[in-house]
Amino acid sequence: MPVVSEEGLVAALRDSWIGKSGQLWKLGVALVLMAIGIVCAIGAFVVGTDVPRPFGLWMIAFVFFGVLFFAWLSISIRCPFCRGPIMWWTASKTSHDLWPLTVFTLQECPYCRKSLRSTP
Ligand SMILES: [Zn+2]
Repeated sequence: MPVVSEEGLVAALRDSWIGKSGQLWKLGVALVLMAIGIVCAIGAFVVGTDVPRPFGLWMIAFVFFGVLFFAWLSISIRCPFCRGPIMWWTASKTSHDLWPLTVFTLQECPYCRKSLRSTP
């Protein structure tokens, strides 16, 4: 497996159909949501279980942002032709470990069968 540098990863994302159809910013929003979620999870463990109520609040915030992260990606990443929710399709049809990657390697839209390689 080749080592992918950060620039290489960004270039690959830009080169994917998501980048070409101008949806890369949606991934950025998702990353911010994920980062907030992780901060909340860390916050929960920094606060600790000695004070149950703040711990629970941090964990609720973590779950909330986790759900928001998943929902945002599922709803926002769409086919540039038919507006089909492709991320949702890959999340529900492919194995859990691989679904975030599958969406980048799709050759055609699972809904309208148009080639994603020729995004407008
Ligand atoms: Zn489509």
